[in-house]
Amino acid sequence: MQINPHYAELNESYLFSTIAHKVADYQKAHPDADLIRLGIGDVTLPLAKSVVEAMGKAVEEQGHKETFHGYIPSEQGYEFLREAIRKYYAERGVTLSLSEIFISDGAKSDLGNLLDLFSADNTVLVPDPVYPVYVDDNVMAGRKILYLAATAENGFLPMPQEAPDADIVYICSPNNPTGAAYTVEQLQAWVEWAKARDAVILYDAAYECFVSQPGLARSIYEVPGAGEVAIEVCSFSKIAGFTGTRCGYTIVPQALVRGGQSLNKMWLRRQTTKFNGVAYIVQRGAEAVFSEEGMAEIQQNLDYYRRNAAVIAQALDEAGVWYCGGKNSPYIWLRCPGGMGSWEFFDWLLDTARVVGTPGEGFGPCGKGYFRLTAFGDAARTREAAERIKAALAKL
Ligand code: PLP
Repeated sequence: MQINPHYAELNESYLFSTIAHKVADYQKAHPDADLIRLGIGDVTLPLAKSVVEAMGKAVEEQGHKETFHGYIPSEQGYEFLREAIRKYYAERGVTLSLSEIFISDGAKSDLGNLLDLFSADNTVLVPDPVYPVYVDDNVMAGRKILYLAATAENGFLPMPQEAPDADIVYICSPNNPTGAAYTVEQLQAWVEWAKARDAVILYDAAYECFVSQPGLARSIYEVPGAGEVAIEVCSFSKIAGFTGTRCGYTIVPQALVRGGQSLNKMWLRRQTTKFNGVAYIVQRGAEAVFSEEGMAEIQQNLDYYRRNAAVIAQALDEAGVWYCGGKNSPYIWLRCPGGMGSWEFFDWLLDTARVVGTPGEGFGPCGKGYFRLTAFGDAARTREAAERIKAALAKL
């Protein structure tokens, strides 16, 4: 018997567990400290009223023989939800067929599960810094990982001319942690790069709902021909506060063929074998996100987070700290002042302002010297945090 040797190659602990331990230790040493957490990317507003009502109705249905739903007829997801997603994309001029949409229990699972479709011999290109899950998923599978430096010089949006050769590339836009978002034109260059070498793009659109600037992409399929090279993974977590309810979706286009095999067929085969679908109740809740009332309620929530981002941005502007993001993204990515390192600034901010953020270094070596703050907090607490940050920075 041999265990998977690649687990030994993983970083010792997941970034957010390390932060949680550090914060717990600090709180133990300073029991009266009133900490404000602008670290982890979890949302704080509750589910929209329409979503709760739809789920309540679905719970009721599950309690009656006539309306009870057992195993989901298709592991791919109920047609009512896939149809709602199809329409959501159509509003942006992206045509999808229902067979290309797969409902998931969130983006994180599928980002890892999708790797089942590819050989362990493939080389993977991962932006640095980025959501740490992409790296860990591939380390576990023993794949060779190459990094694509996202720096202030390239606007945290690396382009293919800087890229080494690879079989799979991850693109996360708007990006976690930098908040940088690609234009449709920039993504076109990535689609051409992938076509030229038969590579596959794994496009993470978890934050698409924050894009408001014209010209920025919300889906890679806004690029003509992207269906031949890209799989898109998305989530209800950020658009509708489903972080604890769990639902997402993955688009695997029919046009995506590698080694003579349809990746759509392979993914369907994989899902029907290893996945039994998302709860009926949750899928009904997700469907309600796309209703007229649901969309209006959700926009109010997104505006609430956008105002938080503006409050943090203003404090940094006033303190003369360089940052990006926060406009088409819930994340603000700042350069640590006074030449501090990411973890040094983490400790300093915790101790001086009693504010918890995320060290940029935790997202990859290029995050060294940077720091992430999130706009997902409570509005009053975010205002308080912004005041504290400003006051602390003024003392530097
Ligand atoms: N992708 C990115 C870039 C994220 O930042 C996150 C969560 O923070 C996820 C995916 C996970 O989304 P989900 O809650 O749908 O698993």
